[in-house]
Order: sequence, then structure tokens, then C-alpha cells
Amino acid sequence: MSKFVYMFDEGNSGMKEILGGKGANLAEMIRIGLPVPYGFTISTEACNSYYAAGKSITSEIEFQLLDALNRLEEKTGKKLGDPVNPLLVSVRSGAVFSMPGMMDTVLNLGLNDETVEGLAKLTNNPRFAYDSYRRFIQMFSDVVLGVDGFYFEQLLEETREQKGYSSDPELTADDWKEVIKGYKDIVKKRTRKAFPKDPKEQLFLSINAVFDSWNNQRAIVYRRLQKIPGHLGTAVNIQGMVFGNMGNDSGTGVAFTRNPSSGERKLYGEYLINAQGEDVVAGIRTPQPIYALQDEMPEVYQQFVETCHLLEEHYRDMQDIEFTVERGKLFILQTRTGKRTAQAAIRIAVELVEEEIISKKEAILRIDLDQLNQLLHRRIDDSYERRPLTMGLPASPGAARGQVVFDADEAEALTKDGKKVILVRPETTPDDIHGIVAAQATVTSRGGMTSHAAVVARGMGKPCICGCESLKIDLKAKQFKVGEMITINQGDMITIDGSTGEIMLGETPMIEPQLSDEFKLLLTWADEERKLGVRANADNPEDAEKAFEFGAGGIGLCRTEHMFMDTKRIPIVQDMILAETYEERTDALNKLLPMQRDDFEGIFQAMQGHPVTIRLLDPPLHEFLPDKEELLVEVTKLQMTDPNSKKLKEKEHLLRKVRQLEEFNPMLGHRGCRLGMIHPEIYVMQAKAIFYAIAKVMQIGIDVKPEIMIPLVGHVNELKEMRQLVIDAGMQVTKETGQEYDYLIGTMIEIPRAALTADQIAKEADFFSFGTNDLTQTTFGYSRDDAEGKFLQSYIENKVLPENPFAVLDQEGVGQLVETGVKLGRQTKPGLKTGICGEHGGEKSSIQFCYDVGLDYVSCSPYRVPLARLAAAQATI
Ligand code: PEP
Ligand code: MG
Repeated sequence: MSKFVYMFDEGNSGMKEILGGKGANLAEMIRIGLPVPYGFTISTEACNSYYAAGKSITSEIEFQLLDALNRLEEKTGKKLGDPVNPLLVSVRSGAVFSMPGMMDTVLNLGLNDETVEGLAKLTNNPRFAYDSYRRFIQMFSDVVLGVDGFYFEQLLEETREQKGYSSDPELTADDWKEVIKGYKDIVKKRTRKAFPKDPKEQLFLSINAVFDSWNNQRAIVYRRLQKIPGHLGTAVNIQGMVFGNMGNDSGTGVAFTRNPSSGERKLYGEYLINAQGEDVVAGIRTPQPIYALQDEMPEVYQQFVETCHLLEEHYRDMQDIEFTVERGKLFILQTRTGKRTAQAAIRIAVELVEEEIISKKEAILRIDLDQLNQLLHRRIDDSYERRPLTMGLPASPGAARGQVVFDADEAEALTKDGKKVILVRPETTPDDIHGIVAAQATVTSRGGMTSHAAVVARGMGKPCICGCESLKIDLKAKQFKVGEMITINQGDMITIDGSTGEIMLGETPMIEPQLSDEFKLLLTWADEERKLGVRANADNPEDAEKAFEFGAGGIGLCRTEHMFMDTKRIPIVQDMILAETYEERTDALNKLLPMQRDDFEGIFQAMQGHPVTIRLLDPPLHEFLPDKEELLVEVTKLQMTDPNSKKLKEKEHLLRKVRQLEEFNPMLGHRGCRLGMIHPEIYVMQAKAIFYAIAKVMQIGIDVKPEIMIPLVGHVNELKEMRQLVIDAGMQVTKETGQEYDYLIGTMIEIPRAALTADQIAKEADFFSFGTNDLTQTTFGYSRDDAEGKFLQSYIENKVLPENPFAVLDQEGVGQLVETGVKLGRQTKPGLKTGICGEHGGEKSSIQFCYDVGLDYVSCSPYRVPLARLAAAQATI
């Protein structure tokens, strides 16, 4: 007989797959001697067997469950349904991977008209007993019977009004009895059945509901987002209840052992006196910060601090803890590895190394690279004088701006239309998750730092402000008020700063972030580990400086065409293209040469002796000319208004040239080295500009390591010819300047034929750089300019392709060509230097692949350099 049910003392933290994260943790906590209420876990396998049996609990599981219940009753000395000493339990989901708030929970299970009396007597607190009972009816009805919580809230509000109360604690035991009667009527009316009295029936129905909630809409969306497989199933934890609402010596709270936003080593969290757990999470009452507990319950606080140390040492990481104090006694309800911002993740990892809890390698591996771009998020310019409208809690860092929307669906729809929006809600629930995903940021008027919006936003690296109580939100009128004077309507632009909690009207200037000292230190550890070089793609001195600051070991790709796009230069580039004679063309090229030379000088200087790979002109020439349609309109107008003008002649000439250069498929047309083959003077000019810059920079005592790169080579003969052309230009400049220099000439491998004949190509190349953007385009036969907007999205949604191959390297296909290229190239030239400079050079799984196939370096955008350094280290460890 398989085992489906485990008492807490039968498990441990290694049993996550069977017991789920929560169940395995509870078992582990009992094992290390923490004060945890006792209970048992129904395994994830039981969930799968429930679905396999057509959504029913099999007799085998039922048998084991009843046995476990007996043991729980023995251990606690209480009995489910006992009118004198009733056992009350919580029923909670617990998947293998944490899915906060996505599945269902039932608390206070076991209450009915008899047991509530027992609880009242036992606790000498009838008010509390009836309050628990009504909470149970409400929660059970919502989760298990599908009766919307709204009906209960409405009745409660009516009762409060009738009695002239302003808050729930004012209701007496008798008031609650009345409410309970009303609640039961609601259930009868809505479900056509009486509320189930039998605690065992309550228990089985709740377990069914938790299993069912594995496949509710929001859980499915969350799983898709977090890439959690659907076949894992959830476990169910049944645990004896302890009560945080037994008076002023009781309470409940949530705390992190370190600050989850900044990583600071200081307890961080909040609690509520005389309350149950859901009060904190739902954000209905605004909780107290955890350090206030020190004054209110000094002994409990001390015990809590010690427990936190114990947990951190045991789990070797920052923990997120749920606790309850029942009449002065501390209970730990749950602990898990705390979710954190990227900034906090880095600081915590570095400090754990300093505290000798983990090794440097572990610290590197602990960084979730997908989260890192949070650190590369924008923030509000420091020089900007802030005039915040109001402030809330800084729940997730980063600044964002956008138009205000009040509804998750609308946030999603407007974002699809290309708008940037900020979702403003009284509070968020898991049903709003798609809105949080779509919006630039989320703001709530209620709830604390551990409320739903805060937890979800932090996990996604989106800015978020919570508990901004001064916002008076009117969802119907689609507006919010701050005080009496200021009204913000849907569509108004606001800026928010999730690091400070400030909300500002309009748009504010933003700047890019800097690396923290901890991050820099972690990166030096990564550099010690990694074998793969990291370079940056940069086309101007500013980007090169940024790349150098972020630790790039060189420039892996300088796209020289970007230097041509400058508004001042483009007319000269156009003159060059339009030139009818050799003289005219040379004239234009002579004007461009010093401009290019100055750029190269700047880049060489910024890179201070590190290699710089400069690629000669790549795009088709028509890209530098005006749009044909616009020209046509202009010419037609001039023909009518000014038929003999010089301007018309010029425009007609331009139009003729545009038409001449037009191509059906320019990405496969006259571009890359094919330009240099047909117009060698362009490549000669570029090569000379590079050599002049080298000579000049060397003369002022700065070392230079230039690598000149020929794009889009498909046949070795192309490279052979272009190589000679560059060498000749070099010799000419040496003759003029008297300066000798070392340099390499290499090629991009971005056409399948080049990869397949890499052994021949290597004869003419000092290095290879895999241009995986074009290699993906040509291997798949997808036009890179058309695929993403037209069909690729649908391919990915329908799982025709696992990922967007322009973002994540297709290792099976394109990767095979890369591997072949490296192998063949090194057959001809052992140790041939190889790198990658397509978009994939900054993507973690592609970086791992590059390491595995033996590339020497990856090259990516300057802002991704820190990520690539860490990814390269993770690939090695
Ligand atoms: C490439 O093709 O991968 C590449 C880096 O060059 P570009 O994107 O400029 O074509
Ligand atoms: Mg390319």
C-alpha cells in the first residue's frame, strides 16, 4: 500500500516533492525542535490520485487520513467535533514550488453549533469563539461552497451600521451569534443546502477544495508565468489551530529575518495584536512594525529573535516566517526561503559569505539571473526636486511612470495597445495578477509590505507601493483623491518610486542605476570563477565607458553603421551613396573618414588596451536613404507646384537611387561584406579610419588591441579578398604615419554556409565571432524584422517553439551550427579565438551553451555585462 499521509514528525526538508514545500518545512521545523503546532500532510501523490480517480478521494487515502486524524487527536488531547474539548484545524495547500496566495486555505475547521460552545468555555471568551465560527463559515463558504465573500461582508456591514459600530472588535458575542445565523441563511439561500455541521464532512470537503484549487484560473496563470509544471500537484497540510485572537496577549504576524527589499540584516515584518493570520495578509487592518513587539511582549520578541537565528543557521538563508502568539506563547506556523529583490539577494548572499554561513560559490549560484535586471532599472533623477502628492509603503523598488488605471483587465488591454499604465487598487487579490504583470507598477491604498501586491510585484521586479492610505479610491468614478483638493482621474500620468513610496503627478526625469558595493564584490568573485570572457557591444565612446565600468573585458562588436546614422553625418553618407563619379564618392568618403577616426579614438581610449572588435559596414545602403513613399509624395507635390525647380531635380534623383537600391529581401540582399566587395572604397575608408585612430592613440601612449571584423561572409573567397584590402589599407597608413601596429582580422560566422565551411574560412581569419542574430534568421529562414510581430508570438503561445529563438539561442539547430563552426575552425587553427555577439550573448541559458561548446567570450549590451559575468561564473561552477 502506498503511503499518502505523513505525520509532521515523519518527514523532513528533503521530501518537498512528496510533501510540498510547506509540508516538508513544517516537518523539518518539528525535527529541529521549533514550537510548531502538530499535524499531518496529505502528499502531492494523493492530489494526482484524486484527479486520476475523477476528483475523488480514494478509500485508501481516506483510511490513512482518518488514522492520521486519530494520531493528531491523541497528541493534542483534543477531538474533532468534541463539544467539550474540540480540535480545530487549518487546511492549507502546499505545492512543491511556492505559489503565494494562488490556492485555497480553510481555517478554524471543526466549528459547529456545539463545538463553538466548547471553545467559548475553554477559552473563557465567547466573543472570540463566535468570531472564529463566523470567520470559518465565511471562509469555508467562499472556498469550498463557492459563495462569494461579498454577501457576508455586506451583511456584516449592515449589522455594524444597525448597531452603530465603526469596527468589528465592537461586536459582542451575541452580535456575532446573530451574524452567524444570517451567514447560515445566506449559505442556505445560495447553495440550497444547510451549512455542513459534521466536522469530518467539513474536513473532506475542504481537502477536495484545496485539490481543486490546484487547477483554478489564477494558479494556472501563475504556473505558466513561473514555468511551474502542471503535473506536480499540491499537498494538503492539516494542522492544529492556534489562536492569535485570544486577547491582548495574543497576536499574529509575518516577518523576514532580513529586509527583503534592501537585504539589511535586521528583522523586518509586521504583526497585529488580537488577530488571525488572514488579517495581516488581506491588509484590512494596517499592522505594526515588528520591532514594536519588543516593547509590547519583550519575552516573546526575544524568543522570536532567537528562533530566527536558529532558522537562518539551519536553512542557511534568509527566511520568511509566519508566527502566532497564543496567550503569550510563541508558535511558528511557517517558514520558507524569503522572496527578495535582486538588490537584497546580492547583499544577503555577500553577507552570508562574510558571516561564514555559505561559500563564495554558493553565493554566486544563489543569484537568480532573471531577477537581476531589476537592478538595471531606472530611478528618478537625483537632481529632480520631488514634490510628492503623497506617500505609501515602499514595497518594491524602482521607479515607473504611466497613466493611472483602476482595473487589472484594463491595465492589460491598454498595455496591449502600447500604453504605459500604473495599476491603482484599494488592494490586490490573486485575480489581479495579469494586471500587475501588464502594468509598469502597482499602487494599493491598503495592506502592508507583505500584502499580496507587494509580494507579487517584488517577485517580478516591478515597482510597487502599498498601504497608501491617503488615497481615497473611487473605483466607480475611476478616480482617486488625495485630500479634498486633488483628484486624479483614469488616464492621468503619474510617476511612482517604489524605493521610497512616493507618488508624483506627471512625468519625472529618470536615470540608470549604479552597481552597489556588494554587487561589485560579488562580481569580482564571479570573475575569479569564470573561464568565459565577457565583452560588450558598444558603438560609441559613452557606451564603451559604461561597458568598461560594468566590467567588460573588451568590445565584442562595434557596429560602425551606427556611427553613420548621426543626423550630421547622414547627408554626407547620402552624398556618398548618390555619387555618380569616383571623385564625388571619394569626396564624401574623405569627409566621413575623420569623423569615424575620432569615434574609434574615443572607443580605444575608453577600453584602455582591452580588445575592441570593429565591424565594417553591414546594412544595405538603402537604409541610409529616405523612405520611398514620403519621397514620392514630395516629388508629386513639387511636380505640381514647382515643376522647374532644382529641388525637384534633386528629389527625383534621390527617388531614382532609392528605387535602384530597393530590394525584395534586403536582409539577404546587398549587405555585409557584399558591400565591401562591390564598393571597396567604403571598406578602405573605414579601415584607414581605424588605422589612423590606432596610430594616434598609440602615439599618446595608450595600448590598443584592434580586431577588424568582416560581416556576413559565406564563402572563404569573400574573406580572402576583404582581408587583403584591410592589410593594404594598414600598410598605406603605416607608410604615412610611420606607426607600426598589431591587429587581428576576423569574420562573423552568421551564415550557415560559413559555419559549415569554417575549416576553410579559418585559414583567412584570426578570430570568429558568431552573429547569432543573423545565424538564427538564416537557419530558421525567419526574417528577423517580420517574424516577431507576425507569427512568432503565436508560435510561442501555442508551443510550436519553446522560446523566442531571437532571444534564447536555439541550441538544437542554430547551436549545432555554432558548435560545428568552432570545431571546424579549430581543426584548421587550434586555439582559434571565438566569441558570440548576437543578442544571445546576454542570455543565461545561451551563455551556458557558449561555455559548453568552448567559446572564449560572449559579448552583450553594456547593461547586461554584470549579468553575463555572473552567468559565466554560474556556467563554470
Ligand atoms: C548578428 O547577426 O548576430 C549580429 C550581431 O549582427 P547584427 O545584429 O548587426 O546583424
Ligand atoms: Mg549580423
